Amino acid sequence: MENIDPATGQVYGSIAAGAQAEVDRAVEAANRAFSIWSKMAPADRSSRLLRLADLIDTNLESLARAESVDTGKPIALARAVDIPRAASNLRYFANAVLHHHSEAYEHQQGASRALSYTLRQPRGVAGTISPWNLPLYLFTWKVAPALATGNTVVAKPSEVTPVTAHRLAALSLEADIPPGVFNIVHGRGDEAGAAIVAHPQIPTITFTGGTATGKHIAATAAPMFKRLALELGGKNPTLVFADCDFETTVSGATRAAFANQGQICLCGSRLLIERSIFEKFTDAFVDRVQSLRQGDPLEESTQQGAVVSLAHQRKVLNAIDVARQEGGTILCGGEAAPAPNDRCRTGYFVKPTVITGLDEHCRTNREEIFGPVVTLMPFDDTDHAIRLANATDYGLAASIWTNNLKRAHHLADRVQAGIIWINCWLVRDLRVPFGGMKQSGVGREGGAEALHFFTEPKSVCLSLDE
Ligand code: NAD
Repeated sequence: MENIDPATGQVYGSIAAGAQAEVDRAVEAANRAFSIWSKMAPADRSSRLLRLADLIDTNLESLARAESVDTGKPIALARAVDIPRAASNLRYFANAVLHHHSEAYEHQQGASRALSYTLRQPRGVAGTISPWNLPLYLFTWKVAPALATGNTVVAKPSEVTPVTAHRLAALSLEADIPPGVFNIVHGRGDEAGAAIVAHPQIPTITFTGGTATGKHIAATAAPMFKRLALELGGKNPTLVFADCDFETTVSGATRAAFANQGQICLCGSRLLIERSIFEKFTDAFVDRVQSLRQGDPLEESTQQGAVVSLAHQRKVLNAIDVARQEGGTILCGGEAAPAPNDRCRTGYFVKPTVITGLDEHCRTNREEIFGPVVTLMPFDDTDHAIRLANATDYGLAASIWTNNLKRAHHLADRVQAGIIWINCWLVRDLRVPFGGMKQSGVGREGGAEALHFFTEPKSVCLSLDE
């Protein structure tokens, strides 16, 4: 398959198009390696994963460049966020598994005493499927806990952005991860991905991607009684109250809307603003958005790069047309951006776009666009804000900007989202559960949730009677 640089629109490499046969071979290898890897002392698995994290650090610059070229994201973002987070994912789970504990209860019925304890055993081969927006970051977010807990892995990165996963394969051999433990199959979703989901010897599937794909995967995996985690789309609200710190909120909301060209599942794509400051906030926000530096992703100062593909550029521009047809007013953007330089003259750029004048029921405010597009809506009071925030089928994340702590807690309680930020956005502690409600997903990743997901609890009861 051709691999395209979205900043130039040019083919710059090719990747293997794996399918059923390659998945079968990977599962065979993973099954063979399971007996070695699952029996290895956790400290030995951990030290290999820590070595892999160190190798990511050592290769930070070349991995960041590869991620930027493959996705169109600004190199500064890849260097500051994507690649360091991939190393943190491995480091976190390599350490966490050493401190993970299980339960033990001493109990008594009548004169009989017993001890019940829980074994947490690796489940076998884990299938991991990840998307293109944060390629190495999300790929390692799944692979790290799976490997740390003693599972072997068959992983499929997105066919749109396969390069850093390919590089990670080489690094994992350098880190002394035994052959067969960590298998990567490149290929299309409906071929390699579908083969992983349907494979009878993969009992655990973790998927991050679109809601429609998640539905399809669930339909295959559920009747096979697989353990399944689905991290899906979002249509996240950013709630701005009149008592917020104005400047901090303008810049926080801009970042939440447009980081990675709006291609983060957690991006705040619906900005809900208290009516008394609606005009003032809108003016300041649009000013800030227009000052974002759109440019060649490989230039250090670029803040907005290319969107990931021609198909995605078309999808985003089409969504903007829908907003126009629905009666929305485009306050800025609304079209493809001109090429920032000659190298990028055939690249896929979209101007950061701000839309107003639409209610919460229209497609623009209900469907995920997953690009540099945000809508603004006014609200009258806290209840109205909650109604607007919850007026979507999604429930992934929300950010709330206010200095009224009581109100913030009330909103955190009432807004339907798996992740709530108060006066911040995208601040993450890897120990807390990560995931969405409603159509944003099933299950949670992160911390103990991930360690539990990849292990089978077995309750053992031992009589203490003499
Ligand atoms: P996608 O669903 O098209 O693809 C995701 C992955 O699934 C890719 O590796 C793809 O090859 C594979 N795939 C596609 N069809 C498949 C099938 N039938 N069987 C098995 N695998 C299949 O998503 P995308 O376009 O790569 O990513 C964007 C979406 O991901 C957005 O909706 C975004 O919100 C979501 N996302 C969610 C989170 C989260 O944590 N909730 C994080 C990032 C992205």
